[in-house]
Amino acid sequence: MTEHVMKQTDQVSTWYPPHPPRVETDVYVRSHRSMTVDQNLPCWACGITHADIIGKTTPNIAPGLAMETHHFWAEDAFTGEGQGDGGIFWPRVMADHPAFDWAGSGFVLADPATWKYFVDSPFNLQVLCSACHRAAKSVPHWLAGLPDPKRGGLVWPVDAGVIGIHHASYPEYRDQRHNRPDVPPFRVPAGQPVIVVPPHILIPQVTL
Ligand SMILES: [Zn+2]
Repeated sequence: MTEHVMKQTDQVSTWYPPHPPRVETDVYVRSHRSMTVDQNLPCWACGITHADIIGKTTPNIAPGLAMETHHFWAEDAFTGEGQGDGGIFWPRVMADHPAFDWAGSGFVLADPATWKYFVDSPFNLQVLCSACHRAAKSVPHWLAGLPDPKRGGLVWPVDAGVIGIHHASYPEYRDQRHNRPDVPPFRVPAGQPVIVVPPHILIPQVTL
């Protein structure tokens, strides 16, 4: 088994429903602020927070880096954005997510103006930094060359990078959250020892 590079060039054409000029709904503004500022939730992929950006806690934090919220289960642009039918088959979404308070949220299947109560709710939003959200090619990880306290103090390589969910393949995006920082991302040589980190470092509630 040898390390190998896989290069992939895809061209994808996606039709977007016509939509009015984009405006943030009141539900979105409330959800976004609550998640990124009030709760200071970390970027799902790289772990940076609003407080890290404001405090500029590492030299890698590029000007313009911001906390964003990604429409995860249903993309805003495909829903009609309150102005039309969009392209979402809502009964499928509703069946997939019985834990969401469909009736209590204000969502009414027959009224597209109310779909924001799901689309822009914290349930459908994932906190990402702008790099892990929209970077079209790899940009420096905010902890490149630095220890990661949430990964047992292991040090990220100086060339660690991140790429946005709107551009990465799903497996590559997803495992940015999971990759081990003591080797360049995903480049684990044969025979590299498995990392042993006490679980409580990652999951404070764990009971053994
Ligand atoms: Zn990030």
